[in-house]
Amino acid sequence: MNPSGKTLLTRREFVATSFLGAATLSLGMRSPLPPPTHRLLLIRFDTESRQKPEMSGFFEKMVAVHRSLKIPATFFCLGAAMELRASEFREFFAEVRNDPLFDLQNHTYSHLGLGYDHGQSVEVLRADIERSFALQERLGGGRPVGVSMPGTGGRDGNNLPGFDATEKSRAELDMLASLGVRMINTFHSGVDAGKTFINYGDLGHPEIMGFPSGNADNSWLRARKYGDPRDYILSQIKERGPRGEPVPVMFHDDTVWIDVNDRNLDIVRFIADAGRQAGFEFVTHRECLQRKALWQNFQLNPQMPS
Ligand SMILES: [Zn+2]
Repeated sequence: MNPSGKTLLTRREFVATSFLGAATLSLGMRSPLPPPTHRLLLIRFDTESRQKPEMSGFFEKMVAVHRSLKIPATFFCLGAAMELRASEFREFFAEVRNDPLFDLQNHTYSHLGLGYDHGQSVEVLRADIERSFALQERLGGGRPVGVSMPGTGGRDGNNLPGFDATEKSRAELDMLASLGVRMINTFHSGVDAGKTFINYGDLGHPEIMGFPSGNADNSWLRARKYGDPRDYILSQIKERGPRGEPVPVMFHDDTVWIDVNDRNLDIVRFIADAGRQAGFEFVTHRECLQRKALWQNFQLNPQMPS
């Protein structure tokens, strides 16, 4: 796949498509849209709240809602939150551990920045992530193979354009690979991180999938940056569907539960309805990792077929 996420055409398909395109244009028709290659909707929760009493009831409600809707979700769990809310996380993990609707992954222990121009040394990052993985295993959440990259809001300097940018960021990716990480945000120069599945073959890690990340709830749901949150998410679904682009939606446990006080998870129900009506398939990140065709064929600078 090329960086825009479209499957490369064989020469024969290319010729046929060009001919069809020219024919439809000459008839004054709009040229046909590309076929949807992966109309996928990825709901994720970064579970990182350290507000223990306020978060009470979140896991039970969320599990009930996702099961009743049959909508999968991926949970990137922060070590510090697991430590503080250990009994809640232990119960949650025991409840969903063998349910494929729920994918349990990690978000570092201390919300440390990966991919910044300053920030902690690779050794400190490794120790922090190892600590978080060990805690997640101890609480019954299994060994993570995925990490979502925390944002650190200026503390670590500027966010780099990708893991390819510096010696340090390349070493961070190597470190993650050595811990068994097989999926992390799409984070590469020249690639749209919000829409594209990639692999990190050009950095020596063809086994690692980059997953699209975006639509963080802080902006569209809490700050209502784009107006009505439902209108915004619906526009994402409507725009991306015909283009075959995936729609990632990133929730935080405390944004939904505390900040916007959505105790019925109505926003999740809305996305489930809207996404299904638009023909989207809901998937966990782990499912995407297993569908290797989604990301293993990705090439950074694809050559036109000859
Ligand atoms: Zn976070």
